[in-house]
Amino acid sequence: MATLQPVRGTHDLLPDEQRRHRHVVEAARDVAARYGFAEIATPIFEFTEVFKRTLGDTSDIVTKEMYTFRDRGGEEITLRPEYTAGIARAFISGGLAQELPLKVFASGPMFRYERPQKGRLRQFHQIDVEILGVPEPQADIEVIALGAHILGELGVLPRTTLELNTLGDGESRAAYREALVAYFSDHRARLSEDSRARLERNPLRILDSKDPGDRALIGAAPRLSEHLNAASTAFFAAVREGLDILGVRHTVNERLVRGLDYYTHTAFEFTTEALGAQGAVLAGGRYDKLIEAMGGTPTAGIGWAGGVERLAMLLTDPPVAPRPIALVPVGEAAQLPALRLAHELRGAGFCVELGYRGNIGRRLKRADKLGAACAVLIGEDELARGAITLRDLDTGAQREVALADIAAALARFRAPAAAPAP
Ligand code: ATP
Ligand code: MG
Repeated sequence: MATLQPVRGTHDLLPDEQRRHRHVVEAARDVAARYGFAEIATPIFEFTEVFKRTLGDTSDIVTKEMYTFRDRGGEEITLRPEYTAGIARAFISGGLAQELPLKVFASGPMFRYERPQKGRLRQFHQIDVEILGVPEPQADIEVIALGAHILGELGVLPRTTLELNTLGDGESRAAYREALVAYFSDHRARLSEDSRARLERNPLRILDSKDPGDRALIGAAPRLSEHLNAASTAFFAAVREGLDILGVRHTVNERLVRGLDYYTHTAFEFTTEALGAQGAVLAGGRYDKLIEAMGGTPTAGIGWAGGVERLAMLLTDPPVAPRPIALVPVGEAAQLPALRLAHELRGAGFCVELGYRGNIGRRLKRADKLGAACAVLIGEDELARGAITLRDLDTGAQREVALADIAAALARFRAPAAAPAP
């Protein structure tokens, strides 16, 4: 029955998958905290206007990918397709202009109506960082270094490349825009239909076109670097120098652009060859004019978003489930003592599995399946002596332990402390 399938482009995070996801999010949260980023969360849906204003009426996301609906009160609502818009909205509506500089980390599900394929979903998850209120290149260096650090912590950095570009300040960008419009207008007839529309509304986006005819024209198009003013050139040099000092390897890709006018200076993207066509794993840039365009006090901003699914797929060394301690009551009279012991051990921080049924053989088999590190055999005779049998399931070694000493005897089987839920 079709309705019992997950909706196309959505997926369940079953335990193994969810563990990988959590690992990505927790590593990111952890490293971001070391860089002084505080965690926040904004709602999963916003007024549609929030995304229209930030992403622009002409972006792919707004024109083709948003999940938009009217709620029962008649409000136009959109499920968030990305995090920056909601964070910028929260910054303005929450009156956070007094708290600058603001450094935030966030993670959660995003929604885009896209053609589902490997690494491209309709509900996916992002990790996200933003710095508001820092116009200096130090913020660019910090967020990019943080991105590299997280990828390093996950063990995936060596399989990614960092591409970097600058869009320059408003003045440089306006000059470049003019040069681009002049160039593409001369070749208007050879442009794809999409790009002809972009020429009017958003000429920089033509550089992003995947159309083969466009690509040929783009090859000979004027370069942004030729239109940067001195301040923009110096800004970009400072960013690169900072990254060099930190050993963050990068290449400059002049074709890496963002179409919208409030993007300024740095744009960057970590990509990988390991995921086929969906190679972008973490991307971002500076958006110094965004808060103003949304109606707030002019405030500089820079940030990035990383795709959790894509990062989780890249993990070569995914975390494993904690190894429990299996309690195995032997005989009816041991059932309740086992229940009580499980309760005590869990209270003391141990990860404990209490098989629900079966004889000793069946319970040990299940303990094995769960990857238990050891089994505590609770027999009636031993109980009478105030003892249990502790069996190391890796070596098979087994010994009797007094109940009073059990916590000490189990200490080496303690699973690593569980992390807080994402
Ligand atoms: P792409 O070029 O793959 O469409 P994008 O430019 O739309 O990516 P961003 O908006 O920069 O992506 O989002 C940041 C990150 O979120 C991407 O680098 C990617 O890892 C992830 N991402 C974006 N869209 C999806 C999706 N539909 N499914 C899974 N992950 C996604
Ligand atoms: Mg996309």
